[in-house]
Amino acid sequence: MIELGCIHCEGQREAARLDVEELILEQLAFEPKVVSEDIRQKRILLCEQCPNRSAHTCTSCGCYYAFRAALPSKKCPLGRW
Ligand code: SF4
Repeated sequence: MIELGCIHCEGQREAARLDVEELILEQLAFEPKVVSEDIRQKRILLCEQCPNRSAHTCTSCGCYYAFRAALPSKKCPLGRW
């Protein structure tokens, strides 16, 4: 059986995702030090496969994982990166 998503809800989810990404990029502009984009993307990939992720948030630390992944002083609270 094929499940069809609500077009309205899918649109809202996509808008929310873009809002969060924009917010994270705005906040990162204030950070004096960030990791390379390569390292950030590797960390984000691990977060996206993590059972402790809920939407844009790490449920272990409560951070937006894409923001935390950019900071050299931060680590995964569960040691995954
Ligand atoms: S920071 Fe660690 S625990 Fe949190 S979502 Fe990423 S990999 Fe999972």
